Amino acid sequence: VNMRRKLVAGNWKMNGSLVANAALLAEIKAGLAVAACDIAICAPAPYFAQCQAELAGSAIAWGGQDVSAHAGGAYTGEVAVSMLQDFACRYVIVGHSERRAYHAESDGLVAQKALRALLAGVTPIVCVGETLVEREAGQTDAVVGRQLAAVLDVLDAADLARIVVAYEPVWAIGTGKTATPQMAQDVHLALRAMLAGKNPTAAVEVKILYGGSMKPDNAAELLAMPDIDGGLIGGAALKAVDFLAIVAAA
Ligand code: PEP
Repeated sequence: VNMRRKLVAGNWKMNGSLVANAALLAEIKAGLAVAACDIAICAPAPYFAQCQAELAGSAIAWGGQDVSAHAGGAYTGEVAVSMLQDFACRYVIVGHSERRAYHAESDGLVAQKALRALLAGVTPIVCVGETLVEREAGQTDAVVGRQLAAVLDVLDAADLARIVVAYEPVWAIGTGKTATPQMAQDVHLALRAMLAGKNPTAAVEVKILYGGSMKPDNAAELLAMPDIDGGLIGGAALKAVDFLAIVAAA
């Protein structure tokens, strides 16, 4: 049993509307018992104001799904970390596999985004994960190691405790296929060992979330593993009952 407080973070992806979000957030707030874990919702940027209005003063933090590596300027379509801060975002996902795959984000770019967030005091949730081909080729540790190393390279060791890592096997995202608790634990342990190589004290504190088809019926066994410190939840974060059930399991 570890001393890290768990974090359950919803990733709404490109879903929602003002009307649908209002209903979802109201249902989540109404159903939330005193939470034993940290909770966050990562929303599309146009809904930051709505999240702030609905969630300020609640036990639920909010954040973004991506951030620019640049501070500001001529970068059409991008969102700066200062803009997340304007709406009191506490977290931002960086390096989600959908960004890596569909927007060609490199390990180096993801690292710059993580650094940009961290320096502004917004907690980056750094996603790493292997594809099915990579897992079957026995490359899982090498791939997630390379992805995490790029981030560790640009961070000061002293700042390490302020990141969150999310292990998200690409083959488990949105597919209904979940890593077994032991498969996930093995990778989480390897990631924590890497963190320890940079800062042993911080490695004990950094939360490593699991993501990939986490649902109410598999959350408890995943969250019971010693190095799984919470979940990054896609599909199940869009249904209040499911999200609340996962929060309760944490
Ligand atoms: C995600 O994309 O971060 C994710 C974990 O999605 P899902 O829960 O739908 O697999």
